[in-house]
Amino acid sequence: MKITNIRFERVEGLFIGQWVVRERQVGALDLYPEYRSRGVSGDVPGGTRNNVPQSHEPWPISALYLHIDTDDGLTGTFGGIEPDQAFQIATRIKPHLIGRDPLATERLWDVMARHDRHARRGHLMMAISAVDIALWDIRGKAAGLPVYRLLGGPTREAIPAYASCLGMPIDAEALTTRAQSLKAEGFTALKWFFRYGPADGREGLLKNVAMVRTLREAVGDDVDLMFDAWMGWDLPYAVEMCRRIAPYGPRWVEEPLAPDRLGAYAELRRQSPVPIASGEHEYTRWGFKALLDAGGVDVVQADSDWTGGISELVKIIALCSAYDKPVVPHGHSVAPGLHVVAAQSPAVCPLLEFLLVYLEQKQWFHQERITPVNGMVALPQAPGVGVSLDESRIIERREVHPAL
Ligand SMILES: [Mg+2]
Repeated sequence: MKITNIRFERVEGLFIGQWVVRERQVGALDLYPEYRSRGVSGDVPGGTRNNVPQSHEPWPISALYLHIDTDDGLTGTFGGIEPDQAFQIATRIKPHLIGRDPLATERLWDVMARHDRHARRGHLMMAISAVDIALWDIRGKAAGLPVYRLLGGPTREAIPAYASCLGMPIDAEALTTRAQSLKAEGFTALKWFFRYGPADGREGLLKNVAMVRTLREAVGDDVDLMFDAWMGWDLPYAVEMCRRIAPYGPRWVEEPLAPDRLGAYAELRRQSPVPIASGEHEYTRWGFKALLDAGGVDVVQADSDWTGGISELVKIIALCSAYDKPVVPHGHSVAPGLHVVAAQSPAVCPLLEFLLVYLEQKQWFHQERITPVNGMVALPQAPGVGVSLDESRIIERREVHPAL
């Protein structure tokens, strides 16, 4: 089998979702007032971002998909990807793939990682990740098996998912109502996102603590609560927050610091009574080895879509298991991580992240939309990764040619 073409397809439709984005999390740029005051839709002050529905009215939505065609008629598909990834694939990676055997994923990953000295991180590694996942889709389709079977799974018939509540409102009443309804739906673990950081002063800090207290009081002691600070804090703030919320028994505090601050992560772990999770913005086994060697993390959150694809996530998990650190992959998308988790020991990969608001949008164009039922995600049965497009939801489609 040989790779004959690599295509990018943009699809457009109208999104009508159950969920609406009501809130955003704290972030690194909140240091500056003009960023701190931005609303839920802005990446930049005053900006609007696509795919952020803020009402239940039909909302224009679009997504970009990668297709890798082969000479025997199989096509590997993955998405939605970002335009930056498509650009890197089209302009740098594609020449290394055309004419090659798509099943030889180890060779292709190695070539992609070696072909450019900047391929070790960032958008180029995110591009490599997307290609690797699409290649695994071809492997699965060629074998007629879902990818987790090729990886040695399943280890379980269904995977426990935690409800990741990015975008949900955080006023006390809404928090209580939502947390109790998610518990009633069968979720045994919930993650919420802090809204405030050091630049918001004592008032913000106390509001963060109040959010944790409200949630614990809402769900009782039999639900795990996790909290994400999305790189928006510094070390003293993180230490104080962890100490203040420790009495409410959080399972972890996630990414409180910028991912490169390994020394600060290690110091935080020495001082924090709460376990620390990180890694969604770390790349490859070498990045994670540095994080583990620094003693910077209790729970590892590598993301298949960014860290090097399915091939690399499997290696990262093997590395973490040797350090006895559980891996709960970050859920930028859900299918690739689900396949990997389904082929790992529950002791190593106990949980799956499921971003309720975000994944509803992310899977809008997908034929098989992965959804937790009673807090569990059933394993997909379709061959490959399982990202195929639902024609009934596509109003317009066009081939995209990313170039300089
Ligand atoms: Mg996170």
